[in-house]
Amino acid sequence: MVADKPTDTANEQNDKLDVLKSTQTVVKKALDKLGYPDEVYELMKEPVRMMTVRIPVRMDNDKIKIFTGYRAQHNDAVGPTKGGVRFHPNVSEKEVKALSIWMSLKAGIVDLPYGGGKGGIVCDPREMSFRELEGVSRGYVRAISQIVGPTKDIPAPDVFTNSQIMAWMMDEYSRIDEFNNPGFITGKPLVLGGSHGRETATAKGVTICIEEAAKKKGINVEGARVVVQGFGNAGSFLAKFMHDRGAKVIGISDAYGGLHDPDGLDIDYLLDRRDSFGTVTNLFKNTITNEELLELDCDILVPAAIENQITEDNAHNVKATIVVEAANGPTTLDATRILSERGILLVPDVLASSGGVTVSYFEWVQNNQGYYWTEDEVEEKLQKVIVKGFDNVYRTAETRRVDMRLAAYMVGVRKMAEASRFRGWI
Ligand code: GLU
Repeated sequence: MVADKPTDTANEQNDKLDVLKSTQTVVKKALDKLGYPDEVYELMKEPVRMMTVRIPVRMDNDKIKIFTGYRAQHNDAVGPTKGGVRFHPNVSEKEVKALSIWMSLKAGIVDLPYGGGKGGIVCDPREMSFRELEGVSRGYVRAISQIVGPTKDIPAPDVFTNSQIMAWMMDEYSRIDEFNNPGFITGKPLVLGGSHGRETATAKGVTICIEEAAKKKGINVEGARVVVQGFGNAGSFLAKFMHDRGAKVIGISDAYGGLHDPDGLDIDYLLDRRDSFGTVTNLFKNTITNEELLELDCDILVPAAIENQITEDNAHNVKATIVVEAANGPTTLDATRILSERGILLVPDVLASSGGVTVSYFEWVQNNQGYYWTEDEVEEKLQKVIVKGFDNVYRTAETRRVDMRLAAYMVGVRKMAEASRFRGWI
């Protein structure tokens, strides 16, 4: 099939779905609202450093395959840059850049001593053996070793990367450094200096945001009707936490579709099915589509899957009182405006998903001290950090009369802009 020549409207449409463009738009608005001159935006619209690497790996068929990888360091005025590395066939330079800006915003919102960084390798881990994955992981670290390190830029897990991959990367870096260096990377297995609570940290952070948002809207989480789109790391742990907290999880979904039961789904059973079969919804007959799931009558809607799910086409049909973005970029800017005009409280991704990097920070602190905390200590500290971040964003939205996304960006850029100014960069 020959694709139609894109029209202006199609281009405009693409721009709306372009994560880098929409991130830059809100960063610009936030800096304007805060009264910063244009050169601050000029500095912040792109990463200060971007590295592209080519990684040769001997595959299981004995042939060499060359992988492309990226590492973006958005702004290191506040401290070393920090952020995950994703393994995905769709990784692109543009996406990695946008994600590094988001990491700067997250660090600013929860007040961590970091700037944002992000990395990615164009590959499909679902089609690679364990040995090939190890080769790509080690090759990536060798390729970027000059610009990363515990006081420069600290990687972590992201889409399709996990604690095993962090362990290989840590081992490779320690070999290059010639000493054991756990603070180079976070999200490691516990036995290699990982932190308690890192695996569930993103979902815990989202849970805390839901609790805070529910208080503002006078909703009791116990008995509240919750819909979660996505049943991956964030979505499935979150559904479990909500279920254990007494909420009624009435809808969940994965890539194959959604399940709906107005009386509440049996989350423990669904998790068990998922763990046994790898998927859930395709095991059932009466499924609904992901589009229908987003429009279910509920109190709390959590998009925890992929980008651009709530758009100007369906934002008018969202029936939730609170929308909490556990995924990155699930709501377009037009949809953000529509939800906000309709009085729906939107907790934006850069705030809601900051639990992961917060516990990563705790892991790095523990590595630096060589002194390890209990799970309770981690949870208690996470609770304080996220509540403070939420309050700051909520207060900014109220006092400056802006939507929660713009408020989050205002809080997120402020420290970085100040630090850049004090350093004499702008
Ligand atoms: N990849 C996660 C994020 O996007 C975690 C980053 C980190 O732990 O440094 O927030």
